[in-house]
Amino acid sequence: MAEDTLPQTDEDWRKRLTPEQFAVLRQHATERPGTSPLNAETRPGTFVCAGCGQPLYTAETKFDAHCGWPSFYAAVDDSAIDTTVDRSLFMVRTEVHCANCQGHLGHIFPDGPAPTGMRHCINGVSLKFVPEK
Ligand SMILES: [Zn+2]
Repeated sequence: MAEDTLPQTDEDWRKRLTPEQFAVLRQHATERPGTSPLNAETRPGTFVCAGCGQPLYTAETKFDAHCGWPSFYAAVDDSAIDTTVDRSLFMVRTEVHCANCQGHLGHIFPDGPAPTGMRHCINGVSLKFVPEK
């Protein structure tokens, strides 16, 4: 379950998040590829937003994209995420963020596997893994 009350200011977010989480979720940083322990996570379970706890991705849609970041072909629910067009770094990319707290997650690329053909390339630091009980 997502938490009801979200931090309202950067200062509040800094209290809740680690510096790495704050940089990615609130300032759109990108973690260094290959650094997330979630890259190797293969157990069944749910990946929730590190900012607010909203379920975002499930282990069933995770695949190894060999890109250095946890990758998924679909969100747990389309309403769990929102996207914007990101024109930074001289590229046009689809930015993806948590629909509940607006925390930045990563980017979506149209080169993923079936059935969606999409690759949600997500910073592991913006996720928390909850193993299935
Ligand atoms: Zn969130």
